[in-house]
Amino acid sequence: MPRRRPGALRADQPPRSPAWDPPPDRIQGLSVATSVAIGQAERLSDDYYVYPGATDHALWEYRAFLRAPGRRPLYPQAAECSCRGCSIDDVRHARDVLEEVMWQLPSRPRAELRHRLRALDAQYLKRTLPDPFAPHRDSWWRRRLAGGRSVPVVAWSANWVR
Ligand SMILES: [Zn+2]
Repeated sequence: MPRRRPGALRADQPPRSPAWDPPPDRIQGLSVATSVAIGQAERLSDDYYVYPGATDHALWEYRAFLRAPGRRPLYPQAAECSCRGCSIDDVRHARDVLEEVMWQLPSRPRAELRHRLRALDAQYLKRTLPDPFAPHRDSWWRRRLAGGRSVPVVAWSANWVR
């Protein structure tokens, strides 16, 4: 059987994350007031990567990355495409988006988002390994060892034999 392009393989799989359009009224784990402030910041942002729903999407990706069972180290992976929809698949980019949004918020919602992030950041630090060769100018969440584009062996072979 001919090998199939990775893109084709990916298309067969169920979507990895729910759709973010339209953006939710309330972002999971955040108060209504903070969710509203975030929605406003997203609509007003002139950053290409900060769009309506981006914060919810980024938080979902961050939590999904950390949800991996077991205690083995986790390795952030580059996204397949640099558009704003795909690049958030890279947990480091998701964290970039959250940082950007945080700085666009008024102080009260900013404090709430920062508080939520602190717990996720602590887990991220625990589950990833430091990259001693990463440039110091990079954000701390980018100075962690990253993986290639590896796919779990089970999922990979199941796709090949189909
Ligand atoms: Zn894309």
